[in-house]
Amino acid sequence: MAESEDFARAREVIAAFIASCESLVIFTGAGISTEVGVPDFRSPGSPWLTNKPVPFQDYMASEAARIEAWRRKFVMDDIYRHLGPGQTHRFIAEGVASGKVRCVVTQNIDNLHQRSGIPEDKIVELHGNGSYALCMGCDKRHEIAAVRKHFECHGVPPGCEACGGIVKSATISFGQKMPVEALRRAQQAMVQADGVMVLGSSLVVRPAADLPLMAVEAGARLLIVNGEKTPLDSAAECIVRGQLPEILPISWALTEVNVSETSR
Ligand code: NAD
Repeated sequence: MAESEDFARAREVIAAFIASCESLVIFTGAGISTEVGVPDFRSPGSPWLTNKPVPFQDYMASEAARIEAWRRKFVMDDIYRHLGPGQTHRFIAEGVASGKVRCVVTQNIDNLHQRSGIPEDKIVELHGNGSYALCMGCDKRHEIAAVRKHFECHGVPPGCEACGGIVKSATISFGQKMPVEALRRAQQAMVQADGVMVLGSSLVVRPAADLPLMAVEAGARLLIVNGEKTPLDSAAECIVRGQLPEILPISWALTEVNVSETSR
C-alpha cells in the first residue's frame, strides 16, 4: 500500500496507477464537487444536514412530508444549481474521452458529470439525479422549474398530470429501492475493470460503497483519493489523502510519459 501526502509524489502514484491499467472505472462521491461549491454530505456545517432529504416512506405516506421535502430541495437547489463542473470533473471527462475510463459510477446527484461532457452511456447514477423529477406511479419525467412554479403558487407540489401519481425529485432517497438497471450496469463495469479509482467519497453509504470491493474481489486494483480515511482503505493498493483540486492536475496524455520517466 502506498500512501502519500506530498502533491508531486501523489501525482506520480496516480499517474503510475493509470498507466498500469487498461480498463478503468472511476467511482465518484460528493467530494469531487466541493471544489465548485456543492457541499458534501458529512463535512461539518453541511447544509444537507440541516436540509436532510426526507426518507422515502415518509415522502410517500404524507403530504406534509412532501411539502417539507420540496422546501428543503429548493433551499439546496439555490445553493448549487447555478454551479458548473470543476477541474476534477474535467479530469474525469478527459479520461473518458481518452478511452481509458470505460465508465463513471457516481453517487452524485448534481448532474455535473453530464455537464462536463461525458456521454450519458458512460455514466451510471446510483442515487439518481436532482435536476428533474419523476412520477412514482408512471415514471413520467417532470421538470423542476414547473414543479417549483406550482409549489410556489399553491403551497403544495403538483401531482402527475398523466396518472395523478406522486411526483418526486429523481434522486434515490433513504429507504428507496436502488435503481435496478443502474446497479446492474455498475456491477458489470466493476467486474470488467482492471482498475478502480475512487475519488471524493467517504465510502460509508451502502450498497453503493460495496461496489469498489466487488471489483477488487474480481481481480481489479483499487486507488482511493479522498480527504479522509475510508472503510475500504485496507482493500486499496494505493491511497492518496488530500484535496482533489490540489492533487489532480494530471494530463491523461502525459500519463504514459510520466510513468516511463519515473520507472527508469
Ligand atoms: P460524503 O459527504 O459522505 O463524503 C465525501 C468525502 O469527500 C468525505 O470523505 C470528504 O472528506 C471528501 N472530500 C470532500 N471534499 C474533498 C476534496 N476537495 N478532495 C478530496 N476529498 C474531499 O459523500 P458520499 O460518499 O458521496 O456520500 C454521500 C451521499 O450524499 C451520496 O449518496 C450522494 O448521493 C449524496 N450527496 C451528493 C452530493 C452531490 O451530488 N454533489 C452532495 C452531497 C451529498
